[in-house]
Amino acid sequence: MAAKRRALIIGGSVGGLFTGIRLLRDGWDVAIFERSPVELAARGAGIVTQPQVLAALAALDLKATRDLGVDASRRQTLDRSGRVIATDHRHQVATSWNRLFGILRAGYPGDRYHLNRDLVGVTQDEETVTAQFADGSTATGDILIGADGFRSNVRRIFAPEVQPLYAGYVAWRGLVEEAAFPPDLHRQMFDFFSFGLPPEEQILGYPVAGDGASDQPGARRYNFVWYRPADEATELRHLLTDENGHEHEISIPPPLIAKAVIAELRAHAGEVFAPQFQEVIRLTEQPFLQPIYDLESSRMAFGRVALVGDAAFVARPHVGAGTAKAADDAMRLADALRDESALSAALSRFETERLDMGRRMVEQARHLGTYMQRDFATEEERVRAERHRSPEAVMAETALLDFLNA
Ligand SMILES: Cc1cc2nc3c(=O)[nH]c(=O)nc-3n(C[C@H](O)[C@H](O)[C@H](O)COP(=O)(O)OP(=O)(O)OC[C@H]3O[C@@H](n4cnc5c(N)ncnc54)[C@H](O)[C@@H]3O)c2cc1C
Repeated sequence: MAAKRRALIIGGSVGGLFTGIRLLRDGWDVAIFERSPVELAARGAGIVTQPQVLAALAALDLKATRDLGVDASRRQTLDRSGRVIATDHRHQVATSWNRLFGILRAGYPGDRYHLNRDLVGVTQDEETVTAQFADGSTATGDILIGADGFRSNVRRIFAPEVQPLYAGYVAWRGLVEEAAFPPDLHRQMFDFFSFGLPPEEQILGYPVAGDGASDQPGARRYNFVWYRPADEATELRHLLTDENGHEHEISIPPPLIAKAVIAELRAHAGEVFAPQFQEVIRLTEQPFLQPIYDLESSRMAFGRVALVGDAAFVARPHVGAGTAKAADDAMRLADALRDESALSAALSRFETERLDMGRRMVEQARHLGTYMQRDFATEEERVRAERHRSPEAVMAETALLDFLNA
């Protein structure tokens, strides 16, 4: 009997697990290597479940569709006074990263998941590929899959020229326990996917699963995302400078965000938002900051090495595509490996398909983000920004991947 083909997967988050589970089902010998020394736990807020995620879970027979999260289908836009000025309906379930990760982690054998393995090098020849880890250990297989996220080492090794590009604005995020919502605010906001559109800024909020991934009424959470322009050289540096004057790169751990920065944030919310959003922000104990970047790879396959998920492309959060793209990349890679007898043909097919998809997602997210730009390079950008001052346009496109069917 021929030996099983062996896949080395770098990164044990959503992209790595989708890929690992699918390749195991397809008969591969799989090992996942995760840098974190401890089990991963949520570091963000909500995840909007897209059809691609549900399709991948269903294809892998992972039971989740019934209670994956919280219904967030009713959309509304509030004006500055708090009046509802537009409504829409888009079937949507919001979950938490913990819940999705938990389902995937439970669906993948523990003895094939290795924590505390930080990939630092990759070598390959005609027959094999070898991963080198920071602890001096190595692993050899037929294919290596970089599912190691936005700051991927695998990508850095093969395509060091690919760099994240700052979009000119940041997202402030926060979570509020459902139990902390006063009844009136709860009635007006909790069950809605709500939008606020002050000039050059955007806030949106929706319910997500609560602690322990609970979708039980009373135990859920409300999550908001507030986009604000921040000039890279001045304002962004200010936001990333902690209480002790230390300037962080790319992101800052939430507890270190300077108190003055949070005070400015709360004060500004009072100037631009509906009272309902102001109250949500006031109830948020620890807002966290996410500078927005575009990341676009020009390659996704390098010999016996492939990139999936955030390692290859990161679209701005407006499209809500991160987990969907990771799931879809995993499925398409496995399809190509199943259908093509030569690895090179499989990776070439995967790359062609998925480069196109990644580019389209990044481009669509850029369109949606033009609204937050202060300066426009072209007339087309200015027209786009104008279009997204309309609540109807924003509600019809945000966190939806319908554009992929166009
Ligand atoms: C712990 C965690 C919590 C998250 N929470 C949220 C959330 O609440 N909301 C949201 O929208 N998105 C969240 N995300 C991001 C979301 O998972 C991704 O945007 C998307 O699902 C694509 O996933 P990915 O697997 O491609 O990349 P990621 O989810 O970024 O995973 C990359 C993985 O690779 C590991 N890794 C990195 N470098 C190495 C290395 N050198 N060697 C080995 N392993 C390495 C990382 O530790 C990480 O686990 C979270 C990601 C992580 C890792």
